[in-house]
Amino acid sequence: TSNSAQHVDITTSLHPYTDARRHEEKGPLIIDRGEGIYVYDQSGKQYIEGLAGLWSVAVGFSQPRLRDAAAAQMDRLPYYHIFAHKAHEPSIRLAEKLVEMTPENLTRVFYTSSGSEANDTVVKMLWYMNNALGRPEKKKFIARTKGYHGITVASGSLTGLPGNHRDFDLPAIPVRHVTCPHYYRFAEAGESEADFTARLLKEIEDVILEEGADTIAGFIGEPLMAAGGVMPPPAGYWPGVEALCRKYDIKLIADEVINGFGRLGSSFGSVHYGFTPDIMVTSKQLTSSYMPLAAIIFSEEIYDAIADNTHKIGTFGHGYTASGHPVATAVALENLAIIEEQDLMGNAARMGEVMQKALAQYADHPLVGEVRGAGLIAGLELVADKASKRPFDPIGKVGTAAFEFGHDEGLILRNVGDTLALCPPLIITEEQVHEIVARLGRVLDLTAGWVAA
Ligand code: PLP
Repeated sequence: TSNSAQHVDITTSLHPYTDARRHEEKGPLIIDRGEGIYVYDQSGKQYIEGLAGLWSVAVGFSQPRLRDAAAAQMDRLPYYHIFAHKAHEPSIRLAEKLVEMTPENLTRVFYTSSGSEANDTVVKMLWYMNNALGRPEKKKFIARTKGYHGITVASGSLTGLPGNHRDFDLPAIPVRHVTCPHYYRFAEAGESEADFTARLLKEIEDVILEEGADTIAGFIGEPLMAAGGVMPPPAGYWPGVEALCRKYDIKLIADEVINGFGRLGSSFGSVHYGFTPDIMVTSKQLTSSYMPLAAIIFSEEIYDAIADNTHKIGTFGHGYTASGHPVATAVALENLAIIEEQDLMGNAARMGEVMQKALAQYADHPLVGEVRGAGLIAGLELVADKASKRPFDPIGKVGTAAFEFGHDEGLILRNVGDTLALCPPLIITEEQVHEIVARLGRVLDLTAGWVAA
């Protein structure tokens, strides 16, 4: 019964990103089933999944072809590994597919089950590579404040959010966090966007020179920063970062875990913003999260340095029991086939334009400081004072109220502090975009009433 499910849940699980004591009192919202862009709780109440789960379900919550692909693979070979010269067909076919879909300099693939493991793997790959190349001092990373790269020890160190560091003793690897490229929040008074970009690029170059280019292995960033608050970069930022990475022989890592496979209305975020990484990290929409899977797609140069060393010492001593899992890779292949057949990237571009245009009306709302986004991802930052951009104090209280009003109105969104994030499934229709925007309008009005009271 629903009561016993709730009872078991609240007494046994420690939930990620949850106030455990409040959760014990309140209990979870138990989501029971999905259909298209909607999910339903145990009472039958319908919600638009305005965040596609965790920014990840491209094809919606009821795609039977993914179930069928999983079942067929379960019947044929439910599990095998790819260690020690073994392979299986879905992992081979998916690697070929990913190399075909990504820019031509990316020719090799490594599998993990999550974005966090993938970013930890990238750190270790570049450490391994630089050891192999006889430059063991080239080990540091540059990342950005408010960047999100996961929560394992290395990826959590690259993440630039205090909540992922505080009380966890992170960062635990050598990393320098440079300024988040969000013009609205981090520009100085009177600074143009071009000057802001130039200042941030100079900051990066200063960090490189201060640390020494021969100590820096990689620069990692999300093309459009998502989980930290949906912040598109200013024009020229990424080409500038790419030029610095080339100048100082630093590997450029695009964390495409949210951006990848059409989210911005382009194949990848790096393609959208016009730069070419040495390493691309993908997950989430890779399988629409029906199965846990991540894939790192990387250059032949990195592969060669690693491969030569494995030949010398006999092994690349890194990999997971579930690396390239046959059911997960089979589901990814089917998911990517659906994205192509149904032109979901094109749909994201078209529906994204509709959504961004419709959301722009809320720029005039008394609570809204900025409306921003690209394609089918958007953020509305709520502020105490529009003219001065003064945030609410404490940050997050108003955002949390809006998040909860969302549940009342049948709209699941995410509040990142006081920024309301939307990231709906790529299958969304024009009518559904307008329904999200209408529900969000009611949420904003309810929140404004709550703030005033
Ligand atoms: N990188 C980015 C850009 C992400 O948004 C996330 C998760 O939201 C991760 C990495 C971590 O992925 P996972 O939660 O699968 O470990």
